[in-house]
Amino acid sequence: MPERTVPSFGKLLAHLVSRPTILMEVCGTHTVSIFRSGIRSLLPEGLTLLSGPGCPVCVTDQSEIDAALSLASLSGVTVTTFGDLLRVPGRDGSLLDTRGRSADVRIVTSAFQALETALREPERQVVFLAPGFETTAPSTAAVVLEAAEKKTANFSVLSLHKLVPPVLRVLAADPELAVDGLLLPGHVSVILGEAPYSFLSERHGIACAIAGFEAEEILLGLTELLRQIRTNRPTVRSLYGKAVRPEGNARARELMERVFRPVDAPWRGLGVIPSSGLALREEFLPWDAAQRFPLPTNPAQVETGCRCGDILTGKLTPPECPLFDNPCTPASPVGPCMVSSEGSCAAHYRYALRGTP
Ligand code: SF4
Ligand code: SF4
Repeated sequence: MPERTVPSFGKLLAHLVSRPTILMEVCGTHTVSIFRSGIRSLLPEGLTLLSGPGCPVCVTDQSEIDAALSLASLSGVTVTTFGDLLRVPGRDGSLLDTRGRSADVRIVTSAFQALETALREPERQVVFLAPGFETTAPSTAAVVLEAAEKKTANFSVLSLHKLVPPVLRVLAADPELAVDGLLLPGHVSVILGEAPYSFLSERHGIACAIAGFEAEEILLGLTELLRQIRTNRPTVRSLYGKAVRPEGNARARELMERVFRPVDAPWRGLGVIPSSGLALREEFLPWDAAQRFPLPTNPAQVETGCRCGDILTGKLTPPECPLFDNPCTPASPVGPCMVSSEGSCAAHYRYALRGTP
C-alpha cells in the first residue's frame, strides 16, 4: 500500500467511528493481511477488530482428524491433502506424526493432483482429504466427477468441506458476540454472490462488506462498514470489483450441488452446525472414503485446554488463551488456530508477539 494512503485512512476511520464498534474479519487471509500491513496500528479508539472462523484448517474438528488418522493407518492406503492440515492435532497426534510411523501421507496442491496420484499408482488406494469452504468445494466436485467418469476404483474423497453462511448464522444469533459489522471474504463471495449474506443485515442488523485481500481493499471494506453503521443502514455491499457478481458463480455452485448434499458438520470448538458441511450424494458414494473404509464413530474428544472455539467466535483474543506462547506455538501447536499460517493464533504469534515482518 502506498505510504501516503496510510495516515489518510487512519483519519478517515477515526472520523467514521461514531460509537464503540466491533467489526469481525471472517477470513484468515484477511487476518494475516491486516497484521502484515500494519492496519491494526491505524485503528482508532473505539474500534475493535476481531478475527472470525474463516479458516477451514482451524475449524477442522478433532473427530475429522481422527478419521483421517485412522485412514492413514490402513495398509495400502495413501492419504493426500494440503500441507496445513498435516499439522492439525487429533486425539493421538497429527497426520505428520503418522508419517514417522510408516503411514503414506502426502502433500498435494490440488484435488486434481490427488486424482493423478491414484491414476499413476493403481496398486494403492488414494484418499483425498478435502477441507475448505465454497472456494475449494467446486474443484473437489469436479475431481469427483472426473473420477466417476473414468471409473477410477482406487480414488476416494473424505469431505471435510464446510459452508460459510451457516456458521455466520450461528455467530449472528450469539448474544455474547454483538458484532456490528462483518468483513466478508472476496474469494468465497465470488462463488456465493451477495444474497446468501442478506439475512445478516436484514434480520440481525449487521453491516456487511465483501472485500479483497490487499491492505487498501481491506481499508475500503472497513470504511464501508463504518459508513453503514454510522448511517444505521446495514446492507451487503461488495467492494471486490467485478469478481463478485450479485448472483455469484452459478456454474461453480451447480457443480457443488451436483456432487454434494448439505449435512450437519462438526466445527472445531463450535460443535455441530446444522447443514454446514458437504457429503457426497448417493450416486458418488463409491468415491466417498467414509463409505469405502471403516472409520471411527463418535470418537471421544480429548480435553487439551485449547480455546479455539472462543477465538473463532471472537470471545477471546489469542493472547488471552492461557496456552498462548506457552506451550502453544507454531512449532508445537496445541490447537488448529496455531497451525495454519492464517489461523488467528499463529497470526498473533508471528506479527503481534514476535513482530515478524
Ligand atoms: S489456510 Fe487460509 S486460505 Fe486456507 S483457509 Fe485458512 S484462512 Fe483461508
Ligand atoms: S493459543 Fe493454541 S491452545 Fe490457545 S486457542 Fe490458540 S491454538 Fe488453541
